[in-house]
Amino acid sequence: MLVMKFGGTSVGDGPRIKNVAGIVLRQRERQPVVVTSAMTGVTDALLRLHSLASTGDEAFREQLEALCQRHRDTAQMIDAATDWSYLEDRLQDLQSDVLRVFDTQDGSLRARDCIASWGEKLAVILVTGAIDSAGGKGGCWDGPMIVTDSHFGEATPRPTKTRELAKNALAEATANDAILVSPGFIGLAEASDDQHEIITTLGRGGSDYSATLIAVALEADACWIYTDVDGVFTADPRIVRKARVLPLISYETAGRLAMCGAKVLHPRSVSPAKRRGIELRVCNTFKPDFPGTLIARASAETHGCPQVVAGRRKLCAVGLQGAGLAEIPNLFGRLCRAIADTGSELVLAAHPVPGHDPQIVIEEGQATVAVEAIAKEFATEITNGQASNTAVTEHLAICTLVGDDLGRLIVEQSQRALASEHVTPLAQSAAADALVFVVPEAALDQVIRRIHQDVIEPALREAAQRGVRPYSNGQWAAGGKAQRRRSTLPQH
Ligand code: ASP
Ligand code: MG
Repeated sequence: MLVMKFGGTSVGDGPRIKNVAGIVLRQRERQPVVVTSAMTGVTDALLRLHSLASTGDEAFREQLEALCQRHRDTAQMIDAATDWSYLEDRLQDLQSDVLRVFDTQDGSLRARDCIASWGEKLAVILVTGAIDSAGGKGGCWDGPMIVTDSHFGEATPRPTKTRELAKNALAEATANDAILVSPGFIGLAEASDDQHEIITTLGRGGSDYSATLIAVALEADACWIYTDVDGVFTADPRIVRKARVLPLISYETAGRLAMCGAKVLHPRSVSPAKRRGIELRVCNTFKPDFPGTLIARASAETHGCPQVVAGRRKLCAVGLQGAGLAEIPNLFGRLCRAIADTGSELVLAAHPVPGHDPQIVIEEGQATVAVEAIAKEFATEITNGQASNTAVTEHLAICTLVGDDLGRLIVEQSQRALASEHVTPLAQSAAADALVFVVPEAALDQVIRRIHQDVIEPALREAAQRGVRPYSNGQWAAGGKAQRRRSTLPQH
């Protein structure tokens, strides 16, 4: 079985959805299961709608109508002859949900998830219709397929119950001889009962995560993530012109990359696939014959792959200042706990040496709450003068070099690359397979370019000299060139 997940741009309009139906039907013999995101921009629009309606702003009416109309128009573009009455019913349900939020001014996260879930639910209907109209048979499952806890906005899946739900959905589709089409991103709170379905979401960009969760639940052997780029690049090609697509990377490298800011996959999505050894692939919906990037277990081959450099922006460092910090017992632990208790992600501890004043790197948007929490935790120490005040260093980013095997030489080369750009990192940390620099956000692109040029490009050239095919033919790059060589490349 093959789980095929399509991102927002892949289902961005009628022709694109028809393209998706074609891609799915070409894999018919592999027993595909489709997981779809909302059409591009729809989740953002729904979140705006919820915010307007819950604050009593009448402007929601016009936006709601526009959103419904976009789905109706798309349906007509897919196939004007199809009976879209089910879509119309569900648009009515969306409207009732939004009106309820308006009437009760329900600004809760629960209501927000309920509204946000409509993007995926409607996309499922459109994709199913497109599969039908292309001569296949789609099995529309426009409710959640994943059971979660009730942490609205970023729910945690419950694997055992998910397996049950997903298997039921699959059984229903199979009984109808149909290809199961299901929504990404959304979940069913385990607190739901037969009368009340409580919807959750897995967090922004969570469709990738749902795809690998569904692949695990259904014991699929492969999960292909279709997006609008060629695969995993050695760097963001918008920043580095010479960035190349890697044909193969390990689960570990892919997971770390996602955590460190590479947008191509959701940070939590790799781990379920890795646990079960599911073949994970990132491919381009607009070049379906290009093999993209295979993500697999670490092997001699992945160890020999060139590295990848990624950047994560919009960060800051928070910490304490004061002459008596060394006297405060368990300073680091208390600092971390105070920040973690606000729900902020601790991206990195900029804690170069034990005894050094620790600083914690977090997302910029969390700075205010974190500073308040630190001031509260250390109120006594601030009053008695051991600590003077909380400190924030703004506009930071992390630049991370990831690969299965970095080695001393690569660490040195990377440090030299930073020095030659006259960038002094606020902190750095190294592991055998990742090297992280905390740098000013304004210097991030420049650092990424330099590391790519000085560390990754030599590795790409070296791989080419060794005759490693994708590099030696020079065509494993973004853009149309790769297409011309496709007969020499592995096919899906
Ligand atoms: N539609 C959701 C979002 O925009 C989930 C996803 O596309 O992955 O965040
Ligand atoms: Mg995405």
